[in-house]
Amino acid sequence: MKTFTGSCHCQTVQFEIDTDLSELTTCDCSICIKKNALMIKVHESSMRILSGKESLTTYQFHTNTAEHYFCKVCGIYPFHRKPIIMV
Ligand SMILES: [Zn+2]
Repeated sequence: MKTFTGSCHCQTVQFEIDTDLSELTTCDCSICIKKNALMIKVHESSMRILSGKESLTTYQFHTNTAEHYFCKVCGIYPFHRKPIIMV
């Protein structure tokens, strides 16, 4: 397990995640398809927002279950949060 850092373009939002990078995935929702984004799934306990939390805004659509986070300053979409679905 390693710690990786990430940020938006203007560096206002900075975060880190703990992951072994075992599986890069794509998301099939309409916004991620347009962005062609590759992502890594981590439990939210493995992610820490280091700065810029107050500069994040969310965008939701369709079923309003996922929260897509954007930096209010530069508009970059650094991560999203999906609810855990128990079946
Ligand atoms: Zn930014």
